[in-house]
Amino acid sequence: MPSESFDQKLKKAGFSSLLEMAIHLPISYLDTRLSSELSIGEAHTIEAEIVQVSRLPKRLVATARTPLCDRPIEITIFHPKPYHGALFKPGMRHFLQGKIDRYGSKLQLVNPKKISKTGEIVPQYRCKLRQDVHRRIVESLVTVANLVGEGLDEERAALIVRAHRPDDTWLKLYRRHGGVGPKTVEALKFAEALDHFKRLGGKRVRFPATARLDGSAEPFVKRLPFELTDDQKRAIEAIRADLSGETAARRMIVGDVGSGKTMVILAAATMAYPHKAVLMAPTSILARQLYEEAKKWLPDFVDVALVTQSREAGEMQTAHLIVGTHALLYRDLPEAPLIMVDEQHRFGTEQRKMLERLVSKNRPSSKKAKPHFLQFSATPIPRTQAMMESALIDVTLIESTPFVKDISTHIVDKSGFTALLGHIRTETEAGRQVLVVYPLVEESEHIGYRSIEESEAFWKARFDGVHVTHGRDKNKDDVLQAFAEKGKILLATTVIEVGISLPKLSTIVIVGAERMGLATLHQLRGRVSRTGLKGYCFLFTHDVKNERLQSFAKTANGFEIARLDLKFRKSGDLLRGKMQSGKEFVWLDMGEDEKIVEAAKRRADGR
Ligand code: ADP
Ligand code: MG
Repeated sequence: MPSESFDQKLKKAGFSSLLEMAIHLPISYLDTRLSSELSIGEAHTIEAEIVQVSRLPKRLVATARTPLCDRPIEITIFHPKPYHGALFKPGMRHFLQGKIDRYGSKLQLVNPKKISKTGEIVPQYRCKLRQDVHRRIVESLVTVANLVGEGLDEERAALIVRAHRPDDTWLKLYRRHGGVGPKTVEALKFAEALDHFKRLGGKRVRFPATARLDGSAEPFVKRLPFELTDDQKRAIEAIRADLSGETAARRMIVGDVGSGKTMVILAAATMAYPHKAVLMAPTSILARQLYEEAKKWLPDFVDVALVTQSREAGEMQTAHLIVGTHALLYRDLPEAPLIMVDEQHRFGTEQRKMLERLVSKNRPSSKKAKPHFLQFSATPIPRTQAMMESALIDVTLIESTPFVKDISTHIVDKSGFTALLGHIRTETEAGRQVLVVYPLVEESEHIGYRSIEESEAFWKARFDGVHVTHGRDKNKDDVLQAFAEKGKILLATTVIEVGISLPKLSTIVIVGAERMGLATLHQLRGRVSRTGLKGYCFLFTHDVKNERLQSFAKTANGFEIARLDLKFRKSGDLLRGKMQSGKEFVWLDMGEDEKIVEAAKRRADGR
């Protein structure tokens, strides 16, 4: 157990854990060891005896002798201060540090630093305390024994400690490589991940479940006309283990659009039977779709009800699965030990919490118990990030899709527009649908693309069945519904991110594609070809050479795209929109460090 002063010291230095302090390496090292030989152009610490001093305008020049060489060294101080006059007097000896240059036939040392104590390698930190105070704290706390006490293995601990207290060999390598070596970097990453898991793991609160749900998904699974994918089965198995436990589940299931999350939702509802489950979706169209699918696929004994603002179906009080929009939050919900939220990122934390309270309000006797909570997300995140987040919530990734979509992606500019129109004509005449997405534009902005308003007349003059919906459109759901039933071309802003199903949609055109984040592009492209139709995605841009768009065109895997997104963000490609995770790591790279993070998680879990 760390002593009190241990924690106080950490806090004083501005850190909340020892591992955090350990991964904040010195930003440089001051080497005050006396040089044993001189080489031009390198920094040295030398002993110098002043022989002669001359004051020139704006300059003090002293000639000095050093035991290291026969030739005298000329020391030049530009803009000398009064204390320089006191320092450089014939006969005085000093330890001086600076770079040795050649000046004509002489050796020169310009503006050297006087060193009071020699013989050390002194780490320099970026710190809020005084260097020496900070250094002393690090010296006393960052030790192999202490780091091992925090869960690091001896090898990694030693590598990190060495970077705080380097020896000659280490420093030489550091200088040669311009930084710490790969093994040390690995140790630092591991320590950073371990710190993250230890911290969040401590924060995670586990509640008892309001009910143990140990039904079987079998009656549902065996009625399906297709085999579930391995990833679907794995997700269902994870949920089965959750629901049959004593602890309230907190799990996020992340799967690309079309990865078959609905089947996982329905399997969970079946396992909850005869208890109730509530499923919340962000729009009434989605809620209705889920309701229809539930009725189609669930075994007959599972009663389903629908609750949206405009429509209700089934009997909510007796249903086993209640599907609805946020309208659910304003109803007198029966108690339900399982809550599921689809497209969870569309809801605020408050709404999710409210739902949780609503379905457990009648349980004053066990206030602490909570329902099982499953969230479904169609925003793929890099595996590594998923693992990092798993410190607070269990995460299951569904990385494969039941059928591989056949979508070809093309980057086109004005020169390809006529051909694009021809393609749209062919598709619509064959009874398929086309979606054209326009960027959201502020009135004052000039981005070089037509706005949706400016384009509407163009499309309507050339095609029938053109429907239009804007972001702020109140009738958005109605327009989408009408388009789904009988439309040919839908003009929209990016708002239609939610996974409504448009089975006849074969083509999407994204105007000004380079302005959008890869995650958004991926969501949009995922609209087409949802039922195995041959799909087309056209990225309309003035910047056809755009590297980000080109890599996007090459892959369809959402998890791969999440990785790419990260890579391009890091390389400074400007993107609109927010970072998925606000957290910044010093050493860890969410795109690359999967293995390290996995190992650190195992260590944190004591495995
Ligand atoms: P998501 O919600 O993850 O975007 P859905 O659950 O809507 O995806 O599934 C997309 C489509 O794939 C649906 O038509 C669904 O019936 C179908 N589907 C789901 N799982 C399978 C499977 N294992 N094999 C074949 N088709 C599947
Ligand atoms: Mg879905």
